[in-house]
Amino acid sequence: MGEAPLDCLVVGGGVIGMAVAREVARTGRSVALLERRSETGAEATAAAAGMLAAAAEAHSPGPFFDLARRSASLWPEWAEQLFEESGVDVEYQEAGLLRVTTSAEAVGDLEIRRTWQLAQGMEVSGLLSLEELRQEVPQLGPDVVAGLHYPGVAHVHSHRVAEALAVAGSRAGVRLQLSAEVTAVRPLGDLLEVSVGAERQLARRVVVATGSWGEEILRGLGVDLRPEPVRGQMLALCPRGLSLPEIVFGDRGYVLQKRSGLVLAGATEERVGYLAEPTLEGVARLAAMARSLIPELGLAEFSRAWAGLRPFLESGPVIGPLPQDERVILALGHFRNGILLAPVTAELVRGALDGGLQPAGLTAFSPRRIPGG
Ligand SMILES: Cc1cc2nc3c(=O)[nH]c(=O)nc-3n(C[C@H](O)[C@H](O)[C@H](O)COP(=O)(O)OP(=O)(O)OC[C@H]3O[C@@H](n4cnc5c(N)ncnc54)[C@H](O)[C@@H]3O)c2cc1C
Repeated sequence: MGEAPLDCLVVGGGVIGMAVAREVARTGRSVALLERRSETGAEATAAAAGMLAAAAEAHSPGPFFDLARRSASLWPEWAEQLFEESGVDVEYQEAGLLRVTTSAEAVGDLEIRRTWQLAQGMEVSGLLSLEELRQEVPQLGPDVVAGLHYPGVAHVHSHRVAEALAVAGSRAGVRLQLSAEVTAVRPLGDLLEVSVGAERQLARRVVVATGSWGEEILRGLGVDLRPEPVRGQMLALCPRGLSLPEIVFGDRGYVLQKRSGLVLAGATEERVGYLAEPTLEGVARLAAMARSLIPELGLAEFSRAWAGLRPFLESGPVIGPLPQDERVILALGHFRNGILLAPVTAELVRGALDGGLQPAGLTAFSPRRIPGG
């Protein structure tokens, strides 16, 4: 201790914590980012496919869809700013997305999806046959029955996003502390005391962005919120001479091609606790899914497989100050969409720090909804 208290301390150096720390530093506040591992972005963030796919991820109209769309709309400028601030190109590409099905029974679900999304002003095609879909992605396999086309859906390179945020944050003044595991956050008079091993740090505000972890910190704050890890496995393939122009998103997974030519096939959803390694079963399922969508991928060279733990909360994302102590702000539960939701999360946390009104419709994610919140 002994040092002057910081304006803000962010716990967790994934995409969410880093996005928040950079945003807060840009307001001129003093900020530190505490990450328990020896590098930032090494957990769920490193595993992500980087899709910014509000259209495919939301299953009904409502606050989550609004949040996801708001964030997708922030991304083009965010990617440019990150490049200017860090020199790192996050490979933002508006590739477009085909939401396809291989099951005749699921065609009705696509129609329902299309109807509510059109009513929400989303740009989406009519229901397309396989022949019509092949005009966008000629390599689609015969298993595909029908689909929808969403032009303009983008993806980014999640490792580059993490790298860009780390550099941009540090240039904006974020003090990064690695191998720094926070075990408790407690009120201490006007300040908050943050325990890192035997050491104590003081801050005026604390943001908890601990992904699939942090239950102990939350319990200490009287918050009954248990982030649950949901494993997602991913397969990377090197197809020779194959160029996949769009994201292909099916009922059991998706394939997309990165600028390097690598094709990602993802992802499983498994509740197996904190096990974060890929399995033969998972890889076999992804391989079958990828071949069913794009048969040519059967000839691609295997590059590697990995897994990450998506932070799931029953209540959906929780973003905002705790009602019982507004100095503590949560940014948790981004589950399948943390890369997509990083810009809007940073915006909401900044709004909470500034004490201003949050954008209409985006208050639905406040911790007020949770027990003890
Ligand atoms: C296979 C897969 C594919 C995905 N694809 C996409 C996609 O296409 N698009 C998309 O938007 N999202 C995707 N996601 C989801 C996305 O990766 C997550 O939502 C996002 O990374 C969550 O970010 P986070 O910062 O909350 O968590 P994390 O990235 O897990 O970061 C949390 C950090 O907090 C640190 N930490 C935890 N506890 C402490 C503590 N006590 N003290 C200090 N540090 C601590 C951890 O070490 C970690 O670095 C995917 C995820 C997976 C697994």
